[in-house]
Amino acid sequence: MQPTTEKVVPVTLIPGDGISAEIVEPTIKVLEALGAAFAWEAHKAGMAGVDEFGDPLPQPTLDSIRRTRLALKGPLTTPVGGGYRSSNVRLRETFNLYANIRPARNLIPGGRYENIDLVLVRENTEGLYVGFEHYIPIGDDPRAVAIGSGVNTRSGCRRIAEYAFEYAVNNGRRKVTVVHKANILEALTGLFLETARDVGKRYEGRVQLDERIVDACAMQLVLDPWQFDMILTTNLFGDILSDLMAGLVGGLGMAPAGNIGVDAAIFEAVHGSAPDLAGKGVANPLALLLASAMMLEHVGRQDLARRLREAIDRTLNEDKVRTRDLGGTASTERFAQAIIGRLKSD
Ligand code: NAD
Repeated sequence: MQPTTEKVVPVTLIPGDGISAEIVEPTIKVLEALGAAFAWEAHKAGMAGVDEFGDPLPQPTLDSIRRTRLALKGPLTTPVGGGYRSSNVRLRETFNLYANIRPARNLIPGGRYENIDLVLVRENTEGLYVGFEHYIPIGDDPRAVAIGSGVNTRSGCRRIAEYAFEYAVNNGRRKVTVVHKANILEALTGLFLETARDVGKRYEGRVQLDERIVDACAMQLVLDPWQFDMILTTNLFGDILSDLMAGLVGGLGMAPAGNIGVDAAIFEAVHGSAPDLAGKGVANPLALLLASAMMLEHVGRQDLARRLREAIDRTLNEDKVRTRDLGGTASTERFAQAIIGRLKSD
């Protein structure tokens, strides 16, 4: 029972494509059992948006986020190499969601790696994801040459670096490693590195500044991930390295993300719509549940986020209820019910 004085927080809910419905529904049930006072406004995007509105990002969905300034989003399908531009990228641009926060933590001991606790901060609106691409035709080949450009601005680099260092200070983090490819992409990622160094100087004595070239960083994350604490990087590198980091802690089912910006914040799983699992009822809902915990923290409900994380921990490690990707046998539904059971028995 909620205290009557508790403020209800309106949240746009985007059920998404593929396995989305299978993980979004149990997530909502868990949040209800937790007593989180969210008022959901469900709206479509992705393939579901195309089917109903002819648009993967329909106007009513955008209007709702503009109103609530907060969303929980299931994964959206983006057709490869054609069709339409990613709704995820468009959402990040539309709402200026410049900071993508992707933590990776071990929740189950005894996996490939122990004691992983990393946070990746990815610039979310610039770099090679701006979509400046075109073909040059030669002879009878209309796609003889493909050209793509990246864009990084000093102001964009500065605000993401400031976000990362402020995050470090506020969350007791000791080190930020700036990941770049400034030896080859001298202008594009050189500007990112130069700006991050400038920002880092202001935090000297509080947060250590470190830097790494992206290819070396990928190898070192596999060989010795404990040398890292936070990673600050550009859009494309952040996308790739955060999947690598998810692999360190059990896979994409364990990887949540927050897209934080000027005009809104959108929380989601790092993973996609997993068409190979869709309809089977076996997907791991943890990434979206952990994203919900991040959303609770974002709205100032650290108490509820802590309870949710504790219930997840006890379900995984005391009840040993786990989905298949984590070596268990539980269906999505059974796993969510086990978490709800834990919340109710607290
Ligand atoms: P994916 O993340 O959907 O799947 C990659 C692998 O991880 C698959 O083997 C899948 O079974 C597994 N996996 C993913 N989520 C899981 C879960 N919750 N539990 C257990 N296993 C899980 O990546 P993909 O197959 O490359 O992409 C599918 C679609 O999703 C594409 O259209 C892509 O554009 C889209 N996508 C969307 C987002 C998003 O909405 N944020 C992110 C990434 C990809």
